[in-house]
Amino acid sequence: MSDAQMRTWAEIDLGRLKHNYTALREQLAPGCRFVGVVKANAYGHGAVPVAQKLEEWGADYLAVACLEEAAELRQAGVRAPILILGVTLPRYAGELLAWDAAQAVGDLETGRALSATAVAAGRTLTIHVKADTGMSRLGFLCDEAHLDHAAGEIAALCALPGLRAEGIFTHFSDADGCEAYTMRQFTRFLDLLDKLSARGVTFEIRHCAASAAMLNYPCTHLDMVRPGIALYGHYPAPGMEYTCPLLPVMTLKTRVAAVRDLPAGTCVSYGRTATLARDSRLAVLPVGYGDGYFRLFSNGQPVAIRGKKAPVVGRVCMDLTMADVTDIPGVIPGDEAVLYGDAAPVEDGADRAGTIQYELLCDVSPRVPRVYLD
Ligand SMILES: *Cc1c(COP(=O)(O)O)cnc(C)c1O
Repeated sequence: MSDAQMRTWAEIDLGRLKHNYTALREQLAPGCRFVGVVKANAYGHGAVPVAQKLEEWGADYLAVACLEEAAELRQAGVRAPILILGVTLPRYAGELLAWDAAQAVGDLETGRALSATAVAAGRTLTIHVKADTGMSRLGFLCDEAHLDHAAGEIAALCALPGLRAEGIFTHFSDADGCEAYTMRQFTRFLDLLDKLSARGVTFEIRHCAASAAMLNYPCTHLDMVRPGIALYGHYPAPGMEYTCPLLPVMTLKTRVAAVRDLPAGTCVSYGRTATLARDSRLAVLPVGYGDGYFRLFSNGQPVAIRGKKAPVVGRVCMDLTMADVTDIPGVIPGDEAVLYGDAAPVEDGADRAGTIQYELLCDVSPRVPRVYLD
């Protein structure tokens, strides 16, 4: 499909991805490993092209959410080590081996089942032990009251045949918010590592820092960092720009489909939530919530056309959206409009929608072609 035929597309600037990767790597002590998080189709940027580039540039590891995502990378020829952060049911242990993926393990029962399958297959499955230090999602519960119990169970897990416990990790819940809570989680993690090492259990790769902790707390880098959003050029929270110079990788664009002159008093779009206050010129954009462009952007979200901001008028539809271009001279069908990008930050859209930029990026739908720029 040529550019001119596309109604809405996402430009993925691989030069910017490389800039972010390099800038992030520069923050690491020598020897600290880097796992590029490419789950959820690389936050909407396209898992395979992003993973292939990260591998080419020397990322030590790639992280995905699930077995299907690992398989997609392997089928595309990606050979870098892959860590599955989410749960894989033990009955799929054979596929973990087949795809050569390391699996996060957060409880002993799952570990035993994975061990049994690996032993039966005469193979060794690589695992990373998951410790829950305060996120309360997955992992061995490691609050102060359960730390000894967790150490005992993790030691038992690591002693199981057929498993190679290469790594151990935890995940912060508030590393872009509360320093005290983050350091409490970090202390629990370090205490756990001490207790395990007292039992003779050590790990090659200890990791805990996603983007926010990586940028805010260098002390948490340990043996490997796990940035996701920062790779794609976005700060986990506002006010972190000073930490590292990042450039947004995705620009979501559409092309003006029609230009309409409509008189004052005209109602626009479903539910008649907008009535034109003046004679107006509207650009009809071939984008909608079917493309992942949030319906919450109705009535107000700016899109950039000819370098100026045109607010959405009326409700965003499934496939079409109207924007007010009355004050932008010369708009014609075929003009490009930037929905997310330097001229219309995705963070502003996230604020309007009451959510985070992660969600907007992930929600750019499969209908939207990704176009890769070098
Ligand atoms: C998604 C995820 C990351 C990456 O988080 P960012 O905030 O995007 O850097 C790291 N680790 C785990 C366990 C995750 O689930």
